Amino acid sequence: MPELPEVETTRLALAPHLEGQRLAMVQIRVPKLRQPTPAAELLQGRTVLRLFRRAKYILATLDDDYTLLIHLGMSGRFSVFPHTGGAHTPTQLTKYPHPPLAKHDHAILTTGLAELRFNDPRRFGLLLRIPTHALHTHPLLQNLGPEPLDAGFTGAVLQAALRGKTTAIKPTLMNNTVVVGVGNIYASESLFAAGINPSVAAGELSKTQCTRLVASIKKVLQQALATGGSTLRDFRHPTGEAGHFQDEFRVYDRAGEPCHTCGTAILQATHAQRSTYWCPVCQK
Ligand SMILES: [Zn+2]
Repeated sequence: MPELPEVETTRLALAPHLEGQRLAMVQIRVPKLRQPTPAAELLQGRTVLRLFRRAKYILATLDDDYTLLIHLGMSGRFSVFPHTGGAHTPTQLTKYPHPPLAKHDHAILTTGLAELRFNDPRRFGLLLRIPTHALHTHPLLQNLGPEPLDAGFTGAVLQAALRGKTTAIKPTLMNNTVVVGVGNIYASESLFAAGINPSVAAGELSKTQCTRLVASIKKVLQQALATGGSTLRDFRHPTGEAGHFQDEFRVYDRAGEPCHTCGTAILQATHAQRSTYWCPVCQK
């Protein structure tokens, strides 16, 4: 499942083809993904003013006071087919010879610069058209915690969010009211980097541990962004390339393999139905 680095990698790849661009042609080929999809006519002709990210949502601010919310779900991905030879007019676009559509290409957004295809075999993704003024009170967005890479996400902020929580720190980090965008991979990796056992009760972390954990979360996410995210099963860049952070995993998906730091076999257990990986020596 794409996590923050994969979503941000996708946003960065889409932005040059969308920001400031008019959606000259829009095709929506399914009535519903996880929720009903908007009608193509409501999006066609609009200009994308800004493409930004909140948690794992990509948000396109449109020029009609609506925002298009995009979520990659479990298996969603974009492919970008740039038009060659500069900007194209809508009449030229209808003749433009991009490759045939693939199965599960559910939405096609065409600007003067490129054709962007959203493909989602498992259909857990989302395309929603939301009034921009109502964005911050939308059920998907209103209770989100801080962005992990924002300067405002500090050890003190994390400690306050964890206060009184008796659940294990690993699943608690994946709760997006505590911090957004930290999923299974990056929760395990950040806890390893901070030397914190994933089973410890979240509310028992000291201020020092919270500060170390916040620094580790930022470092791990930034490293993942720098390497284009992690490609396990489905994730690909809009350019078709894979991410490479999976080559940097210290604990995730390494059960039984030696810890790179101390040589002890990495352990695996299940927290809240998700696999957790840790080193019993480095994360006492
Ligand atoms: Zn170790």
